[in-house]
Amino acid sequence: MRKMRLKTTLSLIFALMVALTVVLVSIFSGIFINRQFEEYVKQTRKQEAGELAEYIGSNYDEELGGFNLDYVHGMGMYALKEGFIIRLYDNDMNLLWDAENHDMEQCHEIMNDIALRMQEKMPELNGEFVTYSYDIVKDGRRNGVLEISYYTPYYMNENEFQFLKALNMILGAVGAVSIAIAAFLGILVAKRITDPISGVITATRKISEGDYSVKVDMDLKEQETYELADSINSMAGTLKEQEYLRKQLTADIAHELRTPVTNISSYVEMMMDEVMEPTPERLRSCYDELQRLSGIINDLERLENAESDGIVLKKEDVDLYSLSESILQSFNSKLEEKKIISGIDGGEVHVYADRGRMGQVVANLVSNAIKYTDENGSIKVSVGTENNTAVLIVEDTGIGIYEEDCTRVFERFYRTDKSRTRKTGGAGIGLSISKAIVQAHGGNISCESKPGVGSRFIVTLPADNGHDQNK
Ligand code: ADP
Repeated sequence: MRKMRLKTTLSLIFALMVALTVVLVSIFSGIFINRQFEEYVKQTRKQEAGELAEYIGSNYDEELGGFNLDYVHGMGMYALKEGFIIRLYDNDMNLLWDAENHDMEQCHEIMNDIALRMQEKMPELNGEFVTYSYDIVKDGRRNGVLEISYYTPYYMNENEFQFLKALNMILGAVGAVSIAIAAFLGILVAKRITDPISGVITATRKISEGDYSVKVDMDLKEQETYELADSINSMAGTLKEQEYLRKQLTADIAHELRTPVTNISSYVEMMMDEVMEPTPERLRSCYDELQRLSGIINDLERLENAESDGIVLKKEDVDLYSLSESILQSFNSKLEEKKIISGIDGGEVHVYADRGRMGQVVANLVSNAIKYTDENGSIKVSVGTENNTAVLIVEDTGIGIYEEDCTRVFERFYRTDKSRTRKTGGAGIGLSISKAIVQAHGGNISCESKPGVGSRFIVTLPADNGHDQNK
């Protein structure tokens, strides 16, 4: 199924949300403003009618004992144009002035106009002309009654309708402009989010095709996208390194296997061709080569065991000092052979660890120290604690390691001298196994060395505090 693009979805959601907000705000504010305006018009009509009664009332002439009918006529005609049809009575309800009597045609024309306009534009009002009575009062005395008829509940003149129309148009225009701006911003926001994702997709696609040299652009403002790009870049780096190590491993294995296999083949071939007698010494030599082969296979197996994720540790309380002491003793004959002086410093340090595996680490470090130290050198093992961490150091006065090799000696098959045969060194596996074991214990292993002076291998392990942290 064809999927919608994230950019489109985000833009749509953003624009829809803003559109919805704008539409709702417009509708509600529109309704509110219209209502307020209608209420204002209603009040204004009422007020105008009251004022009419007041003006006419104030015009009462006490001396003459009556109204100035010319003035009433002027007021009546003015009121008629504004939509008020007035009728004036004296206190005995004798009709004094009536707009309808005066100009019936104009009166009906105006009334019709108003009624038609209101029915057309606001049919829901169901308005009609209603007559209200006002007492005409001056100085507290009632001088007559004024009847005012006007379209109720209210009516609007042409200007007021124009004003309302303009107001609604402005509201609509503001809404439309807001939606356009929102759509534009939505596209910008979506682009900002999706561009880095697209970059990551392109990069991961290339990585899956085996191109580990890709780099995702890191010029990103948001933390999450920055971290995403960063983690993809470091993943590509790790894969590149893994790929290199894998190739290196294959090449190393092939190289390691070639020499014994070639030796055995040529011996066996010559014996088959009867060029050479299968003497016990020659057979012994073949056997030694086979032993070397099986040694390499064992090394590979040990490596696989140690590096596979689930190293099963049988943890117990282990004193690193006594463990190191007994391992050092087991190397006595080799040490004597090379006239190497050895010693152990420090005291009891307890760790919660797999005794066999930790013994393997110490043995490997001591065996390396002996292997790479010339006659009459010295080896020292120190055991102690530092900041709640157990520290075991194996140092020698041997050939040393160049600084750039110090981190690499823990890689599989890494040997500082590649041309060396297995007689002078191992396959370069011991330290990588040691590292895997120490790390499985939550510890660390590192190396400090100076060529020609000697090396120090430092193992740190969490100290045993009632071994609660290592369970
Ligand atoms: P190997 O079986 O070759 O000793 P390791 O993994 O134990 O394999 O060591 C890797 C390489 O590190 C060795 O080949 C050697 O070059 C170097 N190395 C290890 N320990 C020492 C040491 N104490 N002094 C000098 N070089 C060392």
